[in-house]
Amino acid sequence: MTIFRAGRTGAWWMYLVAGHLLLGVYYLIPVSPAGTTGQTVRVVLYCTISASAAIATFTGVRRNRPQWRRPWVFLALSQVVYAIADLTFYTSHYVFKYTVYPSYADIFYLGHYPLMVAGVILLIRRRTPGLDLPSLLDAAVLAVVAGMASWLYVIGPQARLTSPVLVKVASLGYPMMDLALFVVALRLIFGAGPRPRAFILLTANLLGILTADTIYVLQRLDGSYHAGNFLDAIWLSANLCMGAAALHPTMARLVDRAHVKDVGLSRGRIIALSSAALAAPVLMLIHDVGQSSQDVLVLAAGGALLSLLIIARLAGLVADQRKLAITDSLTGLHTRRFFEAQLPLEIARARRSEGSVAVFIIDVDRFKSINDNYGHPAGDDVLMEVAARLRAASRSGEVLARYGGEEFALLVPDAGPGRLSVIANRLRERVAEKPIPVNAGNDDIPLSVTVSVGSASFPTHGDGPDDIVVIADRALYAAKAAGRNRIAVGPEPLPAVDPDTDGAMAEFLCQVADRVDGWLHRYDHSRSVSRWAGVAAGEFGLDAPTIRVAQLAGRLHDIGKIIIPEVVLTKPGALSEEEWRLLRQHPDFGYRLARMVPGFAGVAHVIRQQHERYDGDGYPDGLRGADIRAEARILSVCVAWAAMRSNRPHQTALDENRARRELWAGRGQQFDPDVVDLFLDLHTQGSIGMLRPSGLSIQEAGFPADFRP
Ligand code: GH3
Ligand code: MG
Ligand code: MG
Repeated sequence: MTIFRAGRTGAWWMYLVAGHLLLGVYYLIPVSPAGTTGQTVRVVLYCTISASAAIATFTGVRRNRPQWRRPWVFLALSQVVYAIADLTFYTSHYVFKYTVYPSYADIFYLGHYPLMVAGVILLIRRRTPGLDLPSLLDAAVLAVVAGMASWLYVIGPQARLTSPVLVKVASLGYPMMDLALFVVALRLIFGAGPRPRAFILLTANLLGILTADTIYVLQRLDGSYHAGNFLDAIWLSANLCMGAAALHPTMARLVDRAHVKDVGLSRGRIIALSSAALAAPVLMLIHDVGQSSQDVLVLAAGGALLSLLIIARLAGLVADQRKLAITDSLTGLHTRRFFEAQLPLEIARARRSEGSVAVFIIDVDRFKSINDNYGHPAGDDVLMEVAARLRAASRSGEVLARYGGEEFALLVPDAGPGRLSVIANRLRERVAEKPIPVNAGNDDIPLSVTVSVGSASFPTHGDGPDDIVVIADRALYAAKAAGRNRIAVGPEPLPAVDPDTDGAMAEFLCQVADRVDGWLHRYDHSRSVSRWAGVAAGEFGLDAPTIRVAQLAGRLHDIGKIIIPEVVLTKPGALSEEEWRLLRQHPDFGYRLARMVPGFAGVAHVIRQQHERYDGDGYPDGLRGADIRAEARILSVCVAWAAMRSNRPHQTALDENRARRELWAGRGQQFDPDVVDLFLDLHTQGSIGMLRPSGLSIQEAGFPADFRP
């Protein structure tokens, strides 16, 4: 297993090295005289390397099984056509001494571009669905520059030559195809989306081909091109990069959707765009050097200066806007938007470094009464003072934001669960320390203002940004409920239950769920499923009560198993018919248990429908499609994911990619396709976390110490 894995991950690397070694050998063999063995070996080597890229690309597609193959199939086909072109060219050129230009080979060479362009466009559409206008415009700007240069130095001169029609068509075809490829390559590079190693290799291929092609066209123009010169090295190396990209395990992720769509105006982009704006005047000067009048010179210089001034003005505007967007006007703290942009970044960093991130939500106690008694402006003054005190209590590197009206949020990198209460208390004490003077008529009267603080830490309390904020928010409400001017840390023991339901019964059912979990799993199965179902239901746009039903159903989905004999539940081998019949009753048992809690009718129905299938082949009622409740369609995906990602009596845990493929395979059959898409997106974003080891020991779950499931 390990060897197989190592072989699989290393394949791209071995291919790249072996290919370049062959390339070295190719150049070691002397070119002349024609018709010798050396010549033949060179042709064979060249065609082998070129063909290997096509084979490697197809092999990569087969092995890495991207969820969406089409872009890669187009890229692979383009490599096949390219290899055919090489074979045709080199055999006709060297073996049959056919040196007329254009030849049949040029049909294939030209034909490989549309396939390649189509492949890249499909990739882009998948990575950034819809119109990613900023990237499109940036790519367009550079494309215009390339178009101008190409017209001046390549297309124009070719068009002006008096050559036979076919020669003209071929000579114009290459630069035009290159221009098309250049535009899509720029759009791919400028656009958002994951950039794993396969992306770098693919980019290297595109840039390599474009560079070699451009030099080729220029050499053809001044007659200096001869077959077998250094350009072969660039073309072949680019081909090898394409093969390696497809073989690289991250190739499957190239079609993952980008999370951050809006690519801002970074310094690099500003420099690139400014240089592009200078291109036209500079080209004009270079092109007409010596012939142009002073007027043209002045106009070109003026044009360049104008472009730069306008860009400087716009960049200043953008900087101001950005500052406004991330600064709260009343308190001068960061905005909620900035906080919400930073949190995923910090969490991603913590994930990479196995560190932690703490989130604190701070709410002013009984703030409404300050407004009511002293007026809104006085309330504003209090908010500013609270903000100043919180800022004094926080440190550099932390992100303090105004989260809502009288709510603040603090993000502290590298703070594990052990530090939460210390930091939360520091914030609380700093605010309560001394009264805040409030202007009431003529006098300032001192007002004692307090805050309540809820906190949570990634990864201990939650798997992702949303999760952590929700938990910190719940803790805040626990702190409020406990009397205000206090702090609370981490999740409440139970998911929030409607106040009008029987809390004690719900609590008992949660204990049953924990007991079943302790029995069947070595990890927090139901809690994880509940969390994921909540996140997915929220992302699905369901309303708050429905999200809670999804969470509670996730938490309680297995309670029906409590009445099934343990020998059946934990049997490692195949179940008998009778045992199956029994096991399949658990959704109904769960339904009946949950029905006993007032207000839990919805939860009960979802529990009953957890094993229904989208195609209607599930149980107990064989419901189909939208007849199954949305929460149940979400639940069944979450439960399947938890099952696949854990060790079970009859199957070891699947790795993430296998589990993703399994979900994909069940799309439209076992699972609602929309839910699968959403869940996989959430997983890509990191919102679906790992299964955590169970908090309960077997004994705590109520079983004898020697019990072994
Ligand atoms: P609790 O202790 O439960 O948090 O009680 P509370 O009164 O602080 O909470 P509630 O949410 O009922 O009231 C918050 C108030 O904050 C209501 C709203 O008018 C006020 N508020 C929100 N934004 C601003 C603001 O920018 N300036 C002022 N002066 N008041 C604001
Ligand atoms: Mg408040
Ligand atoms: Mg509030």
